Amino acid sequence: MLGFEKTIGGLLVKRVLLVEDSKVTRNVIAQRLRDAGFRVDEASHGIEAAEQALASPPDVVVTDLWMPGFSGVQLCRLLRAEPVTAHLPVLVLSGTDDRKTRFWVRTAGANGFVAKSEIAELAGRIHQALADPRPLPPTSVRTPLFGSVLDRMSQLLDEALFSSVISADIAAMLTADGNAATLFESLTNLASEVVAYEWFALYFDSTSELFFHCRSNAMAEREARARQAMSISSVATCFSQNDDRPLDVRGGKPIVRAVTLHGKELGRVAFAPEAQGASKDELRFLKIASRELAGPIQSIELFQALRRIAATDPLTGLMNRRAFLEAMSRERERAIRQHVAVPLSVLLLDLDHFKGINDALGHGAGDTVLRGMAQLLLAFARKSDFVARWGGEEFVMALAGADLDGAVLAAERLRGCIEATKHAVGKTDDLVVTASIGVAMMSEKMTIDHAIALADEALYKAKNSGRNRVEVSKIEGP
Ligand code: GH3
Ligand code: MG
Ligand code: MG
Repeated sequence: MLGFEKTIGGLLVKRVLLVEDSKVTRNVIAQRLRDAGFRVDEASHGIEAAEQALASPPDVVVTDLWMPGFSGVQLCRLLRAEPVTAHLPVLVLSGTDDRKTRFWVRTAGANGFVAKSEIAELAGRIHQALADPRPLPPTSVRTPLFGSVLDRMSQLLDEALFSSVISADIAAMLTADGNAATLFESLTNLASEVVAYEWFALYFDSTSELFFHCRSNAMAEREARARQAMSISSVATCFSQNDDRPLDVRGGKPIVRAVTLHGKELGRVAFAPEAQGASKDELRFLKIASRELAGPIQSIELFQALRRIAATDPLTGLMNRRAFLEAMSRERERAIRQHVAVPLSVLLLDLDHFKGINDALGHGAGDTVLRGMAQLLLAFARKSDFVARWGGEEFVMALAGADLDGAVLAAERLRGCIEATKHAVGKTDDLVVTASIGVAMMSEKMTIDHAIALADEALYKAKNSGRNRVEVSKIEGP
């Protein structure tokens, strides 16, 4: 036992360490506490108090909040950080009861504060604090003290600074474009400054996407270890960054942390440290990352959800017109980048006399037919095709790899399919709807708008030639 124990009438006398820079105030408070039956040790400033408390921990610390040099906040933080004093109740004395005082008392980890104007309550508050002690830290974390109080304090400040800089950096990784890859790149840029890792990985629960970074070859094997460590069985996509920096870490046991928000897991972050295990700073980094990534990941999820909503036709679930045009221009860019000259044809499809269905069976029936038509088109399309609702009762399809002849054949087959399909709406279960289809082929230099305009002309021709027909635009160049 480090302290002295004194008993009066068989009762253990509790030792209070009173820290107050004003001698007059200190004397008054010390006397009151002695009268209340406490043994009081006094310190006139924070450093002296820290040295005393660390050398011989009292039962409770009562400290002034603002003292020159080393404040009550700093003292409290230091005591909380040291295994021998981490459990000590600390009450803060403050001249004022304002927001700032409450904030600092809470963030410093004090048990509470007592206004100097209410000093009569102090003894009672001490008894309260003693009756509700903080749990003692496990003995395994009790490390021998070394260095002076000021050294310890500056180390503590460095750690706090490290934590707050890392926290702020990660929290600021809200990507402007909702791009998960951008987030991961920023994260590994930061991580590689503070963590020596063999690999670093981030998994997104909502999309089942795994982002993975390692600095060497043998990537597949490392990626497999990451998946295993992170308990990820189904990965939709794995994006890997691979630097050609030399291998400087031979991996130890991977460390994984869940990223959660309001109890719901959003993702997992993990790395494989050096063989001897992760350092304290590295562990701290991962802990902060798992906490702070919740914001950026959630914003990406919201962004993606928004993008999905903006790209989807709510009635049929198909892409809407804008999303179709965007998908087409992405496809175009990809083809140019990869120097592939795949033909592409466009089918514009308009249901015949659709207004009549609405008029006869009601708008709800019309909606049902539109949804059924969307399913039919999706079932008809190949994986590489694009299907979208162009608007109203018009649909558009882009057939990748189809030249004009192929597209006309496909359109004719589709028309037949539509004509042969019976829709169940209301009391009817054999409603037949037909469609007119305009076909155009998109030449290499043609814009998508131009190709659609040609298909539209062909569609117009199909309508004028009696409907339930396929017509084709013969124009092939801009
Ligand atoms: P045509 O053979 O010339 O194409 O005749 P149509 O009646 O199909 O064409 P029109 O352009 O005269 O009418 C299209 C109808 O489609 C009118 C419109 O109310 C209906 N419509 C458009 N969007 C929707 C929708 O989302 N739901 C329903 N139920 N009807 C829709
Ligand atoms: Mg129409
Ligand atoms: Mg129509």
